[in-house]
Amino acid sequence: MDLHKPAHLVLLSSPGLGHLIPMIELGKRFLIHHKFKLTILAITSQTSHTESQILRSATNPSLYTIIQIPSPNISSLLPPSAAVATRIYLTMRHSLPSIKSTLTNLPIPPSSLIVDIFGTEALTLAQQLNIPKFVYVASHAWFLSLWVYSPVLDKQIQGQYTDQKEPFKIPGCKPVRPEDLVDPMLDRNDLQHKEYLVSANNLSKSDAVLVNTWDDLQHRDLKALNGELSGVMKVPVFAVGPLVRQTESETGQDTELIIQWLNKQPKESVIYVSFGSGGTVSYEQIKEIAFGLELSKQRFVWVVRAPTAESADAAFFTTGSNNVLDDEFDEIRKHFPEGFVERIKNVGLLVNEWAPQVTVLKHPSIGGFVSHCGWGSVLESLTNGVPMVAWPLYAEQKMNATLLAEELGVAVKTTVSPAKYVVGREEIARLVTNLVGQNGKSNNPMRDKVREIKVSADKSLCQGGSSYTAMSKVAKVIERGELIAIKKNVE
Ligand code: UDP
Repeated sequence: MDLHKPAHLVLLSSPGLGHLIPMIELGKRFLIHHKFKLTILAITSQTSHTESQILRSATNPSLYTIIQIPSPNISSLLPPSAAVATRIYLTMRHSLPSIKSTLTNLPIPPSSLIVDIFGTEALTLAQQLNIPKFVYVASHAWFLSLWVYSPVLDKQIQGQYTDQKEPFKIPGCKPVRPEDLVDPMLDRNDLQHKEYLVSANNLSKSDAVLVNTWDDLQHRDLKALNGELSGVMKVPVFAVGPLVRQTESETGQDTELIIQWLNKQPKESVIYVSFGSGGTVSYEQIKEIAFGLELSKQRFVWVVRAPTAESADAAFFTTGSNNVLDDEFDEIRKHFPEGFVERIKNVGLLVNEWAPQVTVLKHPSIGGFVSHCGWGSVLESLTNGVPMVAWPLYAEQKMNATLLAEELGVAVKTTVSPAKYVVGREEIARLVTNLVGQNGKSNNPMRDKVREIKVSADKSLCQGGSSYTAMSKVAKVIERGELIAIKKNVE
């Protein structure tokens, strides 16, 4: 490779905003410190308004190029009931020919490829091009250890995982309780379990795995991944996080409205309620949340999204209207308690489907976050010093909730699993009141803890910090474009 020409790093993102946003952030982080040419290949679902908006506004031709590859139509290959994860795995598999032709026809040949957790089959394309290749796990190290160890558990354990009484032991890591398992492990007969194992095995086809956490936050799991688990991991793991958005690109009139409203509220008094880019809850649950928020007498911003199907992640490909109380909101309105919208109008703001989350979480009036615990939302909350009520719905979110509540001490969990049961109004009122306190006054130890974590996060990204150093090591491989085996021991 000609060392005088900048390296050309290509990032491949699978469909869904929860995948696209972290990939763009990873790319931006590389560009801050390293002179790469950067291209993001985004497999787009084409149904999400916000996705197109983010893609449009994120495109910054002077810094990087975004190439959209429309998702192939795989509807005839799967039953309508297929899990969202299965649909993403298959979409990525059937996109391989388009990805290959895009990669080989780039005006400047790629010198490295980074894929996300659903794109691991594209590693073979990098292999054919003889360039370094990485997997970016936009989640945390404990999840990564379970994932990489799952093929071993698959051999060790008979029957359904959910029928096991004992937690699953992962060498060097905190065991995982059956009730905290990730979605693909809930039914071993489901296609998503098979795909999950295939992708776990594919991790070792990369040259290294990058993970969106940092050493101080998850030292034990990261040590295990590069130590006790290296027999199954086979390639080094680099913690490069927390990589989160600092500002929103999809700003508009609604953002102004929300900020104006937040500006009028006292410091740390407002609860933000949102279930991520794809989360939905039943109408029954929507009603209980409404009752609970009203009962709590706390101020709130609630991103309300209609349930569109049976599953909690049903809106994964479709969210993003971003209109405060627009016409589509009328259907949800019917399910609120009578007179609710009128009664709460001085203390609550209802946002339809999509809010500028980072802007909201950064606002000084925010005191707590009722979150579905998607890792992107978790990091946005931690890096803005906001404690949480953990309301996990799908994917690895139950693990995330346990990590936040039991290990880090920055969240409280609901007593019943919101993924299975309706959380009652009294409990909701109690949880959110504890988070911001009566009359906005609370001696909440979670707030102190989350502030400590924020400081540690900032440190890890500064020059000399653990994530800064890890990122520089990966960047060196990309800059040189050499297909060298990265040193096994990352220290
Ligand atoms: N998000 C947002 N506004 C919303 C809902 C979500 O900006 O109303 C963003 C959020 O800030 C985060 C991403 O969408 O960056 C969601 O990712 P996460 O990992 O939290 O969850 P997922 O949507 O993948 O379940």
